[in-house]
Amino acid sequence: MTAFFHRQNGALAVEQVPLARIAAEFGTPTYVYSRAALTTAYQAYAAACKGRRAHVQYAMKANSNLAVLQVFAKLGAGFDIVSGGELLRVLAAGGDPRKVVFSGVGKTEAEMELALSHDVRGFNVESIPELDRLNAVAGRVGKRARVSLRINPDVDAKTHPYISTGLKGNKFGVAFDDVMQTYRAAAALPHLEVTGIDCHIGSQITEVAPYLEALDKVLDVVEALAREGIDLEHIDVGGGLGITYDDETPPDITGFATTLLERVAERGHGHREVLFEPGRSLVGNAGALLTTVEFLKPGESKNFCIVDAAMNDLARPAMYEAYHRIEAVTPRADSAVTYDIVGPVCESGDWLGRDRALAVQPGDLLAVMSAGAYGFVMSSNYNTRGRAAEVLVDGDSVHLVRDRERPEDLFRGEHLLKA
Ligand SMILES: *Cc1c(COP(=O)(O)O)cnc(C)c1O
Repeated sequence: MTAFFHRQNGALAVEQVPLARIAAEFGTPTYVYSRAALTTAYQAYAAACKGRRAHVQYAMKANSNLAVLQVFAKLGAGFDIVSGGELLRVLAAGGDPRKVVFSGVGKTEAEMELALSHDVRGFNVESIPELDRLNAVAGRVGKRARVSLRINPDVDAKTHPYISTGLKGNKFGVAFDDVMQTYRAAAALPHLEVTGIDCHIGSQITEVAPYLEALDKVLDVVEALAREGIDLEHIDVGGGLGITYDDETPPDITGFATTLLERVAERGHGHREVLFEPGRSLVGNAGALLTTVEFLKPGESKNFCIVDAAMNDLARPAMYEAYHRIEAVTPRADSAVTYDIVGPVCESGDWLGRDRALAVQPGDLLAVMSAGAYGFVMSSNYNTRGRAAEVLVDGDSVHLVRDRERPEDLFRGEHLLKA
């Protein structure tokens, strides 16, 4: 448990607000975020960046609620986006588009044009066809697009294969052997300005070693380019730092960021700007999913605790077999029983936790911890379930930052046949 989700007289609270109060006011399932936790994680990166040109680009796909973006924008964060829709969210949250970097392998012409019209800081480009498309779009609208190449350093991030992105077999980045010729191609295009280099090797990474390995390869490229007269302004080291869901021990944020900045400086690149693109490590432990126990269903081989949240609300367990700690909000004195915590969705994959010892009764509240990253944003309307409400707590204030979807929201935009 973080300092922001804690027990007050035995009952789980976030900052100064008991979770039971939030459930009573807003119902369940509800995502609950702590502003202080968001701020503290951001400040941990900012502390390492102090005194040199280094910035945080929040990878907002991890949690793109407008209020969450607003918190980071006010702290001075830039944003790493992967779609035109995310850029519109940054604008709606009051973020500065000139601090936005546009990543992703499949940018459309319309998205490029939108980003250029808002003068984004740059594009992380992943292929020659994408360079050609961006050059053409920039030419058409009379702008020069600032580009970094996302290179694939071919290092093993030692994480789940679905969230590993820096190996040869992944779809991401320019293959290491093609990097130099791709930079030459970019430098030759009239409507592009080559400004940086980027890599992102995966997610939920709990060791520094793969980062240093990737960074060394990135710096090798920076040096080779400099010898050809292509002088890069910035080095983007990507995101991916892991958090503690269970018993993982990732490096602490400030120490991690400092280690990378020191390596950059040791190799003689201290004058270049460094960008970090964290997502999960800024928001993951700042959120929990609050849910109510509907039924207990004892079984021969398993006992099931059926709750009102499901895989459509939190997909990570079904998708990655991810572990989330699950806690009773107000513990009972009874002896614990081992349950699989499951939702009402018609899929055997619909589980939130397996083999958890809990003393619970129907009507009790559970908190699915560490759900601030890749939680709400991956939720769906499967089984025609409305998506959860989102609440942000700031000290003793509770702010509803997204309404629970209502039944009439669920088929808005659908049409019956004429006959
Ligand atoms: C997803 C992503 C990130 C953030 O990853 P986390 O594991 O959430 O830190 C950073 N950069 C890019 C390009 C991404 O796609």
